[in-house]
Amino acid sequence: MPIEVTLIDHTKDPIRALYMAYRVCYSALTPEQVLARIADERISHEKMLEFVEARLQTGHMSPLEQVVFEFGISGVSRAFSHQFVRHRIGISFEQQSQRYVTYQGGEFPYSVPRTVQQAGLADDMAALFAEAGALYEKMVAAGVPAEDARFLLPNATNTNFKITVNFAALLHIADLRLCTRAQWEFRKVVSLMRAAVVRVAPELGRTLQPKCGERRMGYCDEDYDAWEACPIGRKRPHKSDLFNLYNAYRRGELADLDAADMELIASE
Ligand SMILES: Cc1cc2nc3c(=O)[nH]c(=O)nc-3n(C[C@H](O)[C@H](O)[C@H](O)COP(=O)(O)OP(=O)(O)OC[C@H]3O[C@@H](n4cnc5c(N)ncnc54)[C@H](O)[C@@H]3O)c2cc1C
Repeated sequence: MPIEVTLIDHTKDPIRALYMAYRVCYSALTPEQVLARIADERISHEKMLEFVEARLQTGHMSPLEQVVFEFGISGVSRAFSHQFVRHRIGISFEQQSQRYVTYQGGEFPYSVPRTVQQAGLADDMAALFAEAGALYEKMVAAGVPAEDARFLLPNATNTNFKITVNFAALLHIADLRLCTRAQWEFRKVVSLMRAAVVRVAPELGRTLQPKCGERRMGYCDEDYDAWEACPIGRKRPHKSDLFNLYNAYRRGELADLDAADMELIASE
């Protein structure tokens, strides 16, 4: 089954919602007065956008919780879902049950990783799962409840979600799960979420980046070997290199350095 991510619904006007949330913090006006100025266009959409984009550069995060996105997610594996539901804050999950949904005819949908296909082992995987499916069917026919027959099912078994996530949580999830260190399936799901948000609120969607993105921290804080192995690492500095440079600057050592020296410091 292919992975599908559908944006079901979202806060009606995300930019206005964020503008209101931030503005109320920083203005002598009441929310009603701010709203009236938006309604009669004394505060234009462009002005709201400019204000919100400036706030997005800051660490003032809690207003971001006032914008929510609802997604349907299907065709993902239980290997993925184990990781997904570890996120605890700002996200609400409903997941297809293996207790209340009984697979019919011993057939359950599952995902085959590309690496397994490339290794020429997809047929072996299918044969093993067919055996598991047949035994599952036999158990169900013998009166074993689905909640117990499912003990046979592999991590590859597909599952479906309906989730609601606020924008602050989505930024955090993108920080971690768009990183090249995250599992491929998670990266794919979050990329599809990002694409869906970009379509309805491009200014917000663009900020959904791995944590090293220029709109996020801007540097990598993973271990150095991982940074060296990462294709994005060619564009984003590692935290320790930045500190080496900063310390050299504080010691007054940068004034006489040429480009080759700078590279040497970066590789320390
Ligand atoms: C590359 C990668 C590898 C991983 N490998 C493993 C692994 O091998 N084994 C494993 O078990 N897990 C692993 N995880 C999952 C990881 O440990 C977390 O469970 C997952 O990232 C979700 O937790 P979170 O804190 O990031 O986010 P959330 O649970 O969504 O929380 C968001 C933020 O809220 C705050 N917060 C949340 N709960 C609390 C609290 N109780 N107290 C104070 N602040 C809180 C924190 O700032 C947190 O970052 C991995 C994750 C990644 C990205």
